Amino acid sequence: MNKMKIGLVLLVLLQINGVAATDYLIHAGRVLDVKQLEVNKSQSIRIKDNKIVAVLDGYVQPKEGEQVVDLKSKTVMPGLMDMHVHLSGQGSKNSYSEKFFMNDTDAALRSTVFAKKTLYAGFTTVRDLGEHYKGLPISLRKAIERGYIEGPRIYASGKSIATTGGHADPTNGLRHDMMGDPGPERGVINGPAEAMKAVRQRYKEGADVIKLTVTGGVLSLAKSGSNPQFTEEELRAVVETAKDYDFVVAVHAHGAEGMKRAVRAGVDSVEHGTYMDNETIRLMKKNGTYYVPTISAGKWVAEKAAEAGYYPKVVQPKAAAIGPKIQSTFAKAYDKGVKIAFGTDAGVFPHGLNGREFRYMVEAGMPAFEAIQSATLNTAQLLKIEDQVGTIEPGMLADIVAVNGDPLKDIKLMESVSFVMKDGKIYKNQ
Ligand SMILES: [Zn+2]
Repeated sequence: MNKMKIGLVLLVLLQINGVAATDYLIHAGRVLDVKQLEVNKSQSIRIKDNKIVAVLDGYVQPKEGEQVVDLKSKTVMPGLMDMHVHLSGQGSKNSYSEKFFMNDTDAALRSTVFAKKTLYAGFTTVRDLGEHYKGLPISLRKAIERGYIEGPRIYASGKSIATTGGHADPTNGLRHDMMGDPGPERGVINGPAEAMKAVRQRYKEGADVIKLTVTGGVLSLAKSGSNPQFTEEELRAVVETAKDYDFVVAVHAHGAEGMKRAVRAGVDSVEHGTYMDNETIRLMKKNGTYYVPTISAGKWVAEKAAEAGYYPKVVQPKAAAIGPKIQSTFAKAYDKGVKIAFGTDAGVFPHGLNGREFRYMVEAGMPAFEAIQSATLNTAQLLKIEDQVGTIEPGMLADIVAVNGDPLKDIKLMESVSFVMKDGKIYKNQ
């Protein structure tokens, strides 16, 4: 084969793998340094393939073959990360019956739209915490990695792990003869041995992280929205096994007792955290546990609970009681110094509206810059990938977003991201 042919083959291979063929030089008007919480004015960011190779002061001239991207009028920051989404579904009045009418393939095609909306809203990495259709988020992750469809980088938990009748038992509320006994393969465990088996099953299925529902929840067809649903023995079995596979462990929790058991067992993040008390806060600070607030979901379910017939009868009172409390829980946790990682529970509300969470965090007392830090640096640290994403520095993956104007003065600008680059490829530039 001559050189030209080899070059052509390489080019085709690169395109099949979705690797960006263009090298970029971004001229950035303002760059947010989320480590130091400083704004750097007039910088050039050099991108080669899918990585940031240099960050230089001033607007430097492009090298041969580099394409200049003019973001001089924008505020540039690392790609945003949402630690709590559900790309396999989206809440509506019909959510509870749709699984009887939709095929897995229907849901899979629909999720491609949700993934694209999420990416175009500026979220270049997400953690998908619980599937509505078997294996869907993991397949979605693969399709995005292979360049078949557009979407964020996904860290998927696969099926959430619950106990019998617990928040993520998929047969809750069904006709008795349809309930069966799902078991650890479908993420329902009782006792430490089954807990271990469920974690290993997630590994076998290709999950990246583990999600547990350690207390009751709002949207399940069950009475309690906050009772503890795992014993401490079961929790320790999950966490110890998860560590063997380098899994980060996230727990859905509303009630304080369930949260305390989980934090003592060594989980990495508490999601929602509605009835977090002072003792829970103390334990979380001691263990370095992250809080992923999901204020957006709380506000959304509170609003929908007021709409007659939107939620089933068993769900409505839980949504009305728990939903409105999350923002004040966040205010308290932030005030007391709990580590915060940005997360919304998108899928409970429409995908693509993830950016609203920033406004809710700022309303509750967090400075805008820290809210952006919580969605970049902190999220990367929670996932233990801070050597790859979360900051704009040489050696990092080229995940970069920008907004028009100054989001530190007007946080609502985070809801209309105007530039999106993921892995060195530009998806949006308005
Ligand atoms: Zn959720």
